[in-house]
Amino acid sequence: MIIKLWGVRGSLPTPMGIGELRGKLRRGLDYAKEQWAKDPALEPRTLISDMPPEPSSVIGGETTCLELTHGEHTIVLDLGTGARKLGQDLMSRRSGGDINIFLTHTHWDHIQGLPFFAPAYQKDFTLHFYSCLPDLRTRFQRQQHRDHCPIEFDDLPCRKEFHTIEAGSSFEIGPIQVQTQPLIHPGGSISYRMEVDRKVFIFATDTEFYGPDLHQQMQEYSRFFKDADLLVMDAQYSLEEAEQKKGWGHTAMTIAVDCSLRWGVRELVLTHHEPAHDDLTIWKLFQEASQYLDEYDPSHSLRIYTAREGDQYDLGQAR
Ligand SMILES: [Zn+2]
Ligand SMILES: [Zn+2]
Repeated sequence: MIIKLWGVRGSLPTPMGIGELRGKLRRGLDYAKEQWAKDPALEPRTLISDMPPEPSSVIGGETTCLELTHGEHTIVLDLGTGARKLGQDLMSRRSGGDINIFLTHTHWDHIQGLPFFAPAYQKDFTLHFYSCLPDLRTRFQRQQHRDHCPIEFDDLPCRKEFHTIEAGSSFEIGPIQVQTQPLIHPGGSISYRMEVDRKVFIFATDTEFYGPDLHQQMQEYSRFFKDADLLVMDAQYSLEEAEQKKGWGHTAMTIAVDCSLRWGVRELVLTHHEPAHDDLTIWKLFQEASQYLDEYDPSHSLRIYTAREGDQYDLGQAR
């Protein structure tokens, strides 16, 4: 399974502004000055490739969209605004066929890319929509009503198949075993656990692990999350924000780390970044979460990453 991140921002698309860009340039130039003081012959290309991820990379402002590829099978997880670039990329690779789309829920940041998803405009593509929502078609029709969008959902030329699954049930896409699990989120959200060749990938966004019941919550969910090789999980907030925004349905970075340790996760990718956080803030929170992990459990083997648009994770054969 190869998992590619096309949208990692929570709640609202967040394009980078000029202030943030200038901050990155300033920090990049400071770094370059230091390196050139040590070695004036250093090539700019080498310097940039050795530069830390902040300021040399971007987190990205597109909302949630992931792509899982396994052989001929494609699974798209959520259709946030990241789905626009994914759609263009799919069009450059394929001229038709089946695309399986798993929806966690239909908050805007998870469906807004659908009217801009290029394969939806091709009659040779079949979009298979999987969700726990029996009225998913109606929800798409509402989003793409002519009052809000020039092309109505029913006028999209692709073939559309709706697969309503019961929350907590399992199904298969070719050799990929899929299990579902309801999460803790206003209006509901569904996690998907995908397993093939004894490798497990779990996508769990828009969920709130927090509060006095945290340990009980972790216990209740441990069967579903246990021993995931890769978990991409909601980590929108700092711990302070999680306290201020109780009931909003999102998790703090350090709590996502706690959960992953408890569940025996091997690799954790922190996603659904808060739109009010610039890249510098996200990297600061990530650093705090890494520090917390090392101090809380010095013998841990958990690897953590902050989700960035365009990053790719390859779950090869079983170890
Ligand atoms: Zn969301
Ligand atoms: Zn949501």
